[in-house]
Amino acid sequence: MTRFAVVNPATEETIVEIEEAGVEEADEAVARAKAAFPTWRALPPSERARLLRNVAALVEEHADELARIESENVGKPISGARAEVAMVAEVFHFYAGAVDKHYGETIPVAGGVDMTFREPLGVVGLIVPWNFPLNIASWKLGPALACGNTVVLKPAELTPLSALRLQELMGEAGIPEGVVNVLAGKGSVVGQRLVEHPDVAKIGFTGSTEIGREVMKGAAQTIKRVTLELGGKSANVIFEDADLEQAARAAPYAVFDNAGQDCCARSRIFVQRSIYDRFLELLISATDGMKVGDPRDQETEMGPLISAEHRERVSSYVDGNVAFRGNAPHGPGFWFPCTLVEASNDDRIAREEVFGPVAAVIPFEDEAEVVELANATPFGLSGSIWTRDGARALRVARGIESGVLSVNSNSSVRPTTPFGGFKQSGFGRELGMHALEGYSEVKNVYFSTD
Ligand code: NAD
Repeated sequence: MTRFAVVNPATEETIVEIEEAGVEEADEAVARAKAAFPTWRALPPSERARLLRNVAALVEEHADELARIESENVGKPISGARAEVAMVAEVFHFYAGAVDKHYGETIPVAGGVDMTFREPLGVVGLIVPWNFPLNIASWKLGPALACGNTVVLKPAELTPLSALRLQELMGEAGIPEGVVNVLAGKGSVVGQRLVEHPDVAKIGFTGSTEIGREVMKGAAQTIKRVTLELGGKSANVIFEDADLEQAARAAPYAVFDNAGQDCCARSRIFVQRSIYDRFLELLISATDGMKVGDPRDQETEMGPLISAEHRERVSSYVDGNVAFRGNAPHGPGFWFPCTLVEASNDDRIAREEVFGPVAAVIPFEDEAEVVELANATPFGLSGSIWTRDGARALRVARGIESGVLSVNSNSSVRPTTPFGGFKQSGFGRELGMHALEGYSEVKNVYFSTD
């Protein structure tokens, strides 16, 4: 097996070299998962739940270690990494509890009894990106395992370390051999093989819209089920009647969190024209206050980008009317400053997902216009609305074509509530009870009593 280097984006140093899985390893992993499926699905629900609770407990026990791994490998601030690991444990707790609460129904029919069953799909392939490696893995592992599936999980090639460690912890938790198989390898090799493999029943994919399209095409060959969690270009709508100080304090975190490498980044900040100048001033001052630097420092709020190549791409977006450019460390590390650009909704920076700490600030006149502007994008993942007018907040929330919205908040994800996209941000839902739909099949059985 060839080896590849896993790099710390804050220092550009190699953390470790690991073996790269290829097609052969992918086939072996699918075979192991297939062999483990009959036993795993047949476990009493209470036993599957107990094992998932064990996983949650071990994640909690190893929280510091997992957060350190994630922070070092992704370059994310340690405080954020800790919060993410805490969510991973909550997700496993939630799906442990969900194992015996996702059940069928009986339907009134003539001449007998009609009932539905929730059946697992079999072997599922889980493909995750590099921005929230462990978190997003848990959003898929939890419901997939709760429903009785076995899995092959492929983390992104840049960030495989936390998933590999989680696999070990799952073994310690008592998850039987072959139920969870983690493969560190290239998307174009291992990912593609999982998409094409005839024994993989479903692909749970999170990543770019571009690769999502390829996954969907590849899955068509074997009529695989797919869940696609893809890119975004979300709106942060600031009305004139909002608590402007509060909205301005929150707005930088809605886009610069995780150095902007967040599918939910509210990277189009729409500001009502009557308060535009005042809000921009507040926003610049709040952005200026963001602490950018060493991810190991407890106070750090933003770390580097994931790679030099990604930094090149992000910087290609900053050619317009820059309203603010923050500080970022020099020297080793893929640093990029928080950047605010005054833009129009038609500019490239407002149309494409930048996936870096770059926000477009765009004026609007009224409610009708901002709904139109917010929807003038192929994406529809997330968004925020800031106003003191409750009825308006609900009207706008209903009007924006997006899977997730929050009012007077940046919040996007919780273990208990559905998360996913409209339009080219994908389809299918993760988290909450909704995710279980994507990892089970409904079987209908009619039982004649005549
Ligand atoms: P990416 O699409 O490049 O890669 C995602 C995963 O797909 C990786 O594991 C990669 O190895 C794999 N892959 C690449 N080519 C493949 C192929 N041909 N077949 C199968 N798998 C393949 O995305 P990325 O750069 O890792 O992550 C950033 C993107 O992810 C952004 O667009 C972001 O918006 C999106 N994202 C979406 C969500 C969401 O929930 N909607 C969450 C996080 C990130």
